[in-house]
Amino acid sequence: MAFELPDLPYDYDALEPYIDGRTMEIHYDKHHRAYLTKFKGAIEGTELEDKDLKSILADAGKHGGGVRNQGGGYYNHIVYWNSMSPNGGGKPSGKLAEAIDSSFGSFDQFKEDFTNAATGLFGSGFVWLLPKGGKLEIVGTPNQDNPLMDVVDASGEPIMGLDVWEHAYYLKYQNKRPEYVENWWNVVNWDGIAKQYEDIAG
Ligand code: MN
Repeated sequence: MAFELPDLPYDYDALEPYIDGRTMEIHYDKHHRAYLTKFKGAIEGTELEDKDLKSILADAGKHGGGVRNQGGGYYNHIVYWNSMSPNGGGKPSGKLAEAIDSSFGSFDQFKEDFTNAATGLFGSGFVWLLPKGGKLEIVGTPNQDNPLMDVVDASGEPIMGLDVWEHAYYLKYQNKRPEYVENWWNVVNWDGIAKQYEDIAG
């Protein structure tokens, strides 16, 4: 596998005023790139070089911290970028909306639960929306872990992810993670997330 940094699907400043351009530039070009570079360094010369990312992460517990943290960081940020769009916000429709209603009772309840998971996650990490047996689950993971990994209790492929590391919001929101999360809902890429859900749910 040739692991590469995928293009950001929009300009750095496209998510303003909710996510500022300077944060996006540093986050993508410095943080995400560094995860990829260090991940490639961690697998260089090993048999993992020929495997795909998801199968590498599925055995993260066997591969040591470099692969777990850097490979996780490489994957997690791709999900995070794809979870946002300049045309985002509002509410989902179609099958995803139905699954949210049946899993959480209503969209508003889902939004409250996800927000609470994001503001309540201790330290750095991500919060995911995970299809699971015809339902959806909200899962928080520390550091650069994710539900693809054997070291995480929840298992599956997330269709949406929110980065709650301070580097995702500190320049604009300082220590106010709840404000970042509240504003983040304005850029959630429901069309893209719904499409992924339909691909997975069939
Ligand atoms: Mn990040």
